[in-house]
Amino acid sequence: MDVLEAAFAEAYRRDAEGVWHAPGRVNLIGEHTDYNDGLVLPFALPRGVGVAAARRDDGVLELKSLQAADQGVTVDLGQSRGPGTIRTWAAYPFGVAELLRPLGIGGASLLFDSDLPQGAGLSSSAALECATAVALCELYGVEPDRRELARLAQRAENEYAGVPCGIMDQSASLLCTEGHALLLDCRTGLSSQVPLDLPGKDLTLLLIDTRARHALGDGDYGRRRAECERAATLLGVPALRDVQDLGAALSRLDDPVLRRRVQHVVTENHRVEATAGLLRAGAEQELGGLLTASHLSLRDQYEISWPEADLALEAALRAGARGGRMVGGGFGGSVIVLTATGRAGAVRDAITAAYRERGLAEPGFLEAIPSAGARRISMDGGLPG
Ligand code: ADP
Ligand code: MG
Repeated sequence: MDVLEAAFAEAYRRDAEGVWHAPGRVNLIGEHTDYNDGLVLPFALPRGVGVAAARRDDGVLELKSLQAADQGVTVDLGQSRGPGTIRTWAAYPFGVAELLRPLGIGGASLLFDSDLPQGAGLSSSAALECATAVALCELYGVEPDRRELARLAQRAENEYAGVPCGIMDQSASLLCTEGHALLLDCRTGLSSQVPLDLPGKDLTLLLIDTRARHALGDGDYGRRRAECERAATLLGVPALRDVQDLGAALSRLDDPVLRRRVQHVVTENHRVEATAGLLRAGAEQELGGLLTASHLSLRDQYEISWPEADLALEAALRAGARGGRMVGGGFGGSVIVLTATGRAGAVRDAITAAYRERGLAEPGFLEAIPSAGARRISMDGGLPG
């Protein structure tokens, strides 16, 4: 028996009907483009949130997590309570369950376990939502389109957890496939799989946890969104994705802050297109420059980088890495660095040494391997009964 199934049996005194897994993600490039109706290029990580689950026929939803200090929550889905009912981590899966109810989903017991750091910019929140969504849907034999499911999970995060995130994280967790990145147009929701073959090109993408933590509720994220909306309004376009002539747009904005924000969003969108082009051509070797350009734009134009991220990237580049950038919302979280596999050890050591020199907590390292999206991982078949 799987460890999570055993923990489920212990927690709920009955057997799970299955175990599902939804991955976290790294966005290769396209940062803060999602809410500007632009392009992003995430891929799924080998790590994520697992959930063991079983139906309940009384409409009650039970949620427990091995990562949570609390006892979890028990809530009757029969009485629709809406956002605000639950104010702990359980708001995310509760929101998903409540939004899925009209599709025919009923009660269930869920136990979560995760090997993804929380708040590190790897989207543990979307993994939590998407694991809930795929588990409940399969338990109840409903099969919504995965793009619809991504929108539903996003709504759960927006409305139930109060986080104004875009559609990228949930799309990545649900739609990614092994060995590929997902080119996602955040305006249309249309996506395509782009091959991302790192081992075949003798490349390693290191994911570095800088140990600095962000809090999305802190207001910076909301401020950046508001600045982008204001700039779009001033420029008379529906979203910054629609800016065609960057020079002309910049000359029409008086506010230097808005000019910097527009500069980032528009050039970042172009970098996503350029990156997808390189990947389609099998030119993974040439990605480094685009990644570093993205970082510099996030640091200088969007102003959301943080000292530990800048330090990690500088140390990596000095040690011969091809490029890299901060990932996620900013002000904390992770950095990705692309390096020839033969240099990966030296790059790691250089980053660790730079951290030590400054007296910072040891950074964490993980090899980012493009992996599969959310799926069932045990006891296939036989459902719904
Ligand atoms: P990120 O998505 O970058 O990891 P967020 O702040 O968006 O950071 O989401 C982290 C939150 O998601 C946690 O504070 C917690 O509420 C919830 N969460 C993620 N994983 C788990 C888990 N395994 N168990 C319980 N809650 C989790
Ligand atoms: Mg998140």
